[in-house]
Amino acid sequence: MSHQSESDFVTDIYPTLSEEARVRVDLAAAYHLIEHFQMSDSIYTHISARVPGDNEYFLINPYGTRFSEVKASQLVMIDLDGNIIDDPCNMGANPAGFTIHSAIHGARPDLKCALHTHTVAGVSIASTQTGLLPINQWALQFYHGVSRHAYEGIALNLEERERLVKDLGPENKILILDNHGLMTMGNDVGEAFTLMFNLERVCKVQMAVLASAQPVNQIDSTVCELTYQQYKQFAEMSQRGGFHVEWLAYLRLLEKVSPSYRD
Ligand SMILES: [Zn+2]
Repeated sequence: MSHQSESDFVTDIYPTLSEEARVRVDLAAAYHLIEHFQMSDSIYTHISARVPGDNEYFLINPYGTRFSEVKASQLVMIDLDGNIIDDPCNMGANPAGFTIHSAIHGARPDLKCALHTHTVAGVSIASTQTGLLPINQWALQFYHGVSRHAYEGIALNLEERERLVKDLGPENKILILDNHGLMTMGNDVGEAFTLMFNLERVCKVQMAVLASAQPVNQIDSTVCELTYQQYKQFAEMSQRGGFHVEWLAYLRLLEKVSPSYRD
């Protein structure tokens, strides 16, 4: 898939890919985008996606790869217990890293992708008791739908999965892992990435506002509610030909800066 021009790939080839091939391209793209926007943490944290079909199989990066090295054809396929189904590079997966992801995928089949980060802004907000504050327009898309999960040490204990799933709840797509980092999930990879891009920015703004030590303009709760609903409507309006226009824009960016994602 590596020799088409950017317009050829995103406009002509990508829409015609099989379901699994598209999930692979999307997932590899999300890894490259997280690196591009400086939200990676060396080889740690993961992004996982459900393989279309009846099997409970998931795709994740080969263990030890930097996010910008991930390629669609080299993703590792694992089951819910982290057992390897397919591993083209023979690099294995990080079962400890998959603990959190397997909890979510096992309990919420509606979610096709789970994205986890450790960033300075995200860990900072996750370390505060107040969490996200509804103090600017960007933040109001997260006025509802955000869960928190208390810190229990590095997530190696499989029993933690039960508590994590209970904290996430049946509908939310945002999980703040206290004192640890952020998680976003989506009906597809693009949604999980877009939520994380926006959430990260909200965390950065909040840290900047708090650092300013200036009195903060409060937004009336009625306006907070209105803006949250406006964001929801806007997300529904942004589909074009079955694809979210914002995700296609990100793919076009990668065609310029990091096209190896789709190899
Ligand atoms: Zn983590």
